[in-house]
Amino acid sequence: MKVVRSTKCSLGFSTRAKRLELREVLSEYGRVVNVFIGRFWGRRWQKRELTKGNIVVEDTWLSARMRKVAAREAIDMARAARERDGRLARKPVHKGTRMCVSSTIGTLRPSKEAASFDAWLHLASIGRGIRLDLPVRYHRHYLRYAQDPRARRKESYIITEESVQLAFEVEVGEPRTEGPELGLDSGVHALATLSDCRRFGTDLEGLMAIVRRRRHGSRGQQRARHALHQRMAEVAKEIAALEPRTLVVEDLKRLHHGMRRDRRLSRNMRRSLGAWAYRDWLGRLERACEMNRVRFVRVPPAYSSQRCHVCGHTERGNRKGEMFRCRGCGYSDQADVNAARNLLDRFEGGDAHPAGAYGPGFPSPGVE
Ligand SMILES: [Zn+2]
Repeated sequence: MKVVRSTKCSLGFSTRAKRLELREVLSEYGRVVNVFIGRFWGRRWQKRELTKGNIVVEDTWLSARMRKVAAREAIDMARAARERDGRLARKPVHKGTRMCVSSTIGTLRPSKEAASFDAWLHLASIGRGIRLDLPVRYHRHYLRYAQDPRARRKESYIITEESVQLAFEVEVGEPRTEGPELGLDSGVHALATLSDCRRFGTDLEGLMAIVRRRRHGSRGQQRARHALHQRMAEVAKEIAALEPRTLVVEDLKRLHHGMRRDRRLSRNMRRSLGAWAYRDWLGRLERACEMNRVRFVRVPPAYSSQRCHVCGHTERGNRKGEMFRCRGCGYSDQADVNAARNLLDRFEGGDAHPAGAYGPGFPSPGVE
């Protein structure tokens, strides 16, 4: 199984003149992408339909290669907008702040001379005779992948005025066939509680409190946030290192639809660290699992905190703060453990209790 990992490296060592030139290229590129979006919006275009003839733009100095890159991006953007919004889709607009080029335009060469940067990003065939050599400083993530024998660098570069994103393809091997299947509930008191009762990241609550205490947008808050994300990355790795065969988590995408009753998880997490950080945490977990050949599964979380994993009885009153006590059968456990087990049940499909079935299409039985 192959996974792609990318890492952002700074272009901040460029001279002012180079940065201005790069800005000009990006802005002209964005303008031309928008010309193509206008041209292609009427019907669904395929990239293979692009020819020398239909990528001509009269008033641009971009080379044919660059126009081709722009035309492909225009097709991708139009498709993404349609997939997202269907018939209501509006013509997307490229902001002219980034572009993605391959080896026909960009090449990365190790730097021989200076110690202050690591490589040159060489850009050519842009048009108007522009050739840009931008000094690149590798991020430590870059070095980690560069030293990984399973990783191969891809010749594609996402370029902004400040940074270039480099990508690696990592051959991680076949998914595990041994090891337990685990459900994982994300929470505030412990970032992760597993269906086998183990808890991880119990120190995160303190870090979240620091983020909240710091003035919004301040330096101090940024630092605290950084520390929090570092810790989340460590916890994600710890969990993947347990080497389960499968890890089941809640599907965030489903949080917004048809589940007014069980927002406990998302609400707590959102309040403490924000929806973005929560998404980031699950993303880190997924990537850590991929690198460790752990199958990562997302299931709809509806009612996972109210449903009794033993008998399926679902009621808000089953839960009292940190404790879960089933009003149907009397089963009691830590609330996070019960929720993690529900997620696992959900995946295994071994739900023998129709009353406890959940998800869109199953009206909630007797909740509130
Ligand atoms: Zn029960």
